[in-house]
Amino acid sequence: MNKNKFLNLVQKQLSNGFNNSSISLNMKQILNHPKNEIIFNFPVKLSNNNLQIFKGYRIQHNDILGPFKGGIRFHEDVHLDEVKALASLMSIKCALQDIPFGGAKGGIKLNPKKYSKKDLELITRGYTRAINNYIGPEYDIPAPDVGTNSQIMDWIMDEYNLINNDHVKSVITGKSPICGGSLGRKQATGRGIGVIVNEITSDLKKNHSIKLEGFGNVGYHFVEYLNELNRKSEKTFLINTISDHTGCYHIDYDTNDKKTMIGLIELILNYQNMNQSLKDIENYNFQIKKIPKNDYLQIHSDLFIPAALELSIKEEEAKILNCNIIIEGSNGPVSDKAEDILTLRSIPIIPDILCNSGGVVVSYFEWVQNRTNEYWTEEKVFDKLDHKMIECYQKIKKRCKNNTDWRIECYKYSIEKLYEVYSLRKSYFFD
Ligand code: NAD
Repeated sequence: MNKNKFLNLVQKQLSNGFNNSSISLNMKQILNHPKNEIIFNFPVKLSNNNLQIFKGYRIQHNDILGPFKGGIRFHEDVHLDEVKALASLMSIKCALQDIPFGGAKGGIKLNPKKYSKKDLELITRGYTRAINNYIGPEYDIPAPDVGTNSQIMDWIMDEYNLINNDHVKSVITGKSPICGGSLGRKQATGRGIGVIVNEITSDLKKNHSIKLEGFGNVGYHFVEYLNELNRKSEKTFLINTISDHTGCYHIDYDTNDKKTMIGLIELILNYQNMNQSLKDIENYNFQIKKIPKNDYLQIHSDLFIPAALELSIKEEEAKILNCNIIIEGSNGPVSDKAEDILTLRSIPIIPDILCNSGGVVVSYFEWVQNRTNEYWTEEKVFDKLDHKMIECYQKIKKRCKNNTDWRIECYKYSIEKLYEVYSLRKSYFFD
């Protein structure tokens, strides 16, 4: 993927937000540039005794609302422009959710699958030493992202406290619950998308078919939550098409037999748990068929949820995608040209900054729990998360009139909020 295209996409989305508001251009200039761009090459002596140099990033985009906040990505394609784009999305997302955080993102350019657990620990500790002076519970609070997990967050917290002779848990979120992580953090993003899907479909018919792209952390917990709704509500969510990096699959249900359908979704979740991908699932159950990508896109589903990689929907996909609405689970899945085509085809998009904000919401809850040293039950975390997702969705819905672009409305809300705070705290920029 061209990382520059992704940064251009995010900058264009920001511009569209500004063009539809009457906010000072000085504010646009501020948000167009990250506050700090930290790039470093750090040496690590690996377990085979070889020394290797790694390239790391931490981009701190904006902190007018509170400490910088954003994940750390371990991926071989990590690039400055990608990290800049993701950091600015975080500033907009936190403002949209009314969380007292700014936006940041970080990463190391490496393929984590090529390293042993021991080496990943050495690399993570090296990265932490390199960013130690730039993070802190009141300054910049990292979290997991693609390629990182709670174990890596536990190592970062440990190394930070070793260097600083301290016991601060709130320097990082997404830790293991026993090390101070919040219950419900790993489910948060997928569940949050499920809450939005449930809310959007609340005035509509009872049966909803779903096309899902990507079945990693986000996709898995989204499906898990939908099946929970299938079990306890009148509604039925049918995952009729699903894909991951191994291919696209069609699932054939008897729509009148909800119990069997719930069992089939359970089977897909278990298969993913055991195999970490959907590879060969068609040999596991006769109701699941592997299909070409074009068929996957052309089979009708009421809702399409991209939850894989950035820019997965380009012009060619947008022309044939058969759905009524897109709920963006991944960051920046739809290119701007694809979005123009989808607008012409009257397919609305509920944007990433709203739909996938559940992760940062529960990261905020983790930070609060660490600071008060009072830990919440999973039920309490989910109640508060569901409430926040619904509140945010309804807040934007109220601002939207017929045919309003949801992405522009979300950006406008965040930009106006950031401007209001800037104009009070830093009036000299706007006088
Ligand atoms: P992940 O690495 O766990 O999963 C990614 C999934 O995408 C995998 O199932 C993979 O097989 C699939 N995939 C890769 N290439 C594909 C292709 N060509 N076609 C179909 N599927 C493909 O990542 P994740 O944590 O689930 O994150 C997914 C997206 O959501 C990313 O854009 C991430 O930035 C965003 N996001 C994640 C979180 C979070 O809490 N994990 C929060 C906010 C946003």
